[in-house]
Amino acid sequence: MSLLVLKFGGTSVGTTDRIQNVADRVLRLRGEGHAVVVVVSAMSGETDRLLGLARAIQTRAEGRELDVLLSTGEQVTIALLSMALEARGCPARSYTGGQVSIVTDSAHNKARIRSIDDHRIRSDLNAGRAVVVAGFQGIDEEGAITTLGRGGSDTTAVALAAALKADECRIYTDVDGVYTTDPRVVKQARRLERITFEEMLEMASLGSKVLQIRSVEFAGKYNVPLRVLSSFEEGPGTLITTEEERVEQALVAGIAFNQNEAQLTIQGVPDQPGVAYAILGPIADANIEVDMIVQNIGADNTTDFTFTVNKNDYEKAMEVLGRVSSTLGARKVAGDTQIAKISVVGVGMRSHAGIASRMFETLARESINIRMISTSEIKISVVVDEKYLELGVRALHDAFELEREPAGQS
Ligand code: ADP
Ligand code: ASP
Ligand code: MG
Repeated sequence: MSLLVLKFGGTSVGTTDRIQNVADRVLRLRGEGHAVVVVVSAMSGETDRLLGLARAIQTRAEGRELDVLLSTGEQVTIALLSMALEARGCPARSYTGGQVSIVTDSAHNKARIRSIDDHRIRSDLNAGRAVVVAGFQGIDEEGAITTLGRGGSDTTAVALAAALKADECRIYTDVDGVYTTDPRVVKQARRLERITFEEMLEMASLGSKVLQIRSVEFAGKYNVPLRVLSSFEEGPGTLITTEEERVEQALVAGIAFNQNEAQLTIQGVPDQPGVAYAILGPIADANIEVDMIVQNIGADNTTDFTFTVNKNDYEKAMEVLGRVSSTLGARKVAGDTQIAKISVVGVGMRSHAGIASRMFETLARESINIRMISTSEIKISVVVDEKYLELGVRALHDAFELEREPAGQS
């Protein structure tokens, strides 16, 4: 008998009817002889609603009590799904993260899973029960409730699948797989049969929110067979796999984008050793993560220094830069929140030149100005004006012929 861990996201459990559909699917799979552990998210919009309540009390709500609040969303769905299963004659047990000892560190609102005690779940499975576990939450060493960051139910599912050595972890969502780019933005986007862990990790890190980044990291590290598929229709979905098992020959697997960054520039700083450190040191001290960095070639012994941060950190970063600017005697500090980052991703880039030039040529043809560029072995990212985001993504999708099945695909 095989063991499956199934995860249903917010939209898939968004109404009681949909929860009934999930129960039907669990029953079907059990009928086919699978043992099933189900991880559920909060009903769609619920986590945002709870966040809104918290912010009405405390503008910058965060930390321990926010986790106590946010974790309630998932507690509702585990109970409702277990009831729906029981109503169908399927023995079921629901558990919060704490009840099955999903132990995390104490980094509230973005905790990392350290260990899972699979004891209870295994004895339920042995007794023929379906097990329903709340996603997105855990408990720290002190017994405080923690949450895993937005989208964290994916990570709960993969971590459980790893702990239980499940045969497959299936992420059921509102699209029928991983696409070449967000299908909500580009109609021509195509579902991928397979994508490598490495590509999926880049796509997720660069803004494709279909899977939480940490869930992909986890799956890659523990070699968890992972599949993304639709909770509304039947189909094979997309298998996340190792490079050796990849059959597609495409150079570019997909295009990711992100509107959550802001750009800061400090102009006219001395062009001398230690300047990057003088600027980025205080930014790091303020706990702000920097993504892309560009330093101009200096003229008249001064230079300009530009970098991007998450939009949430923009104001804090501007404050820090203001202080740095007076210490360094800079000419000016400027910022822009109307930017977007577009990235093309593919392991095929390792062995093929010319992807970057095709990317730049395509953007030039659309008269889209590139503000910043960064590359790694398997991705090229550019920062452009936010208003060109959709145009840029569509043009690149076309230029790399992503709507067409690549040769070699089975
Ligand atoms: P869930 O609530 O099930 O966790 P999410 O909203 O977190 O669902 O993730 C699914 C969404 O991810 C899709 O509706 C889609 O708009 C978005 N998405 C972004 N990039 C991609 C991509 N490359 N392939 C598929 N979906 C994508
Ligand atoms: N409910 C949480 C969120 O909205 C976790 C999840 O859905 O994965 O982010
Ligand atoms: Mg999600």
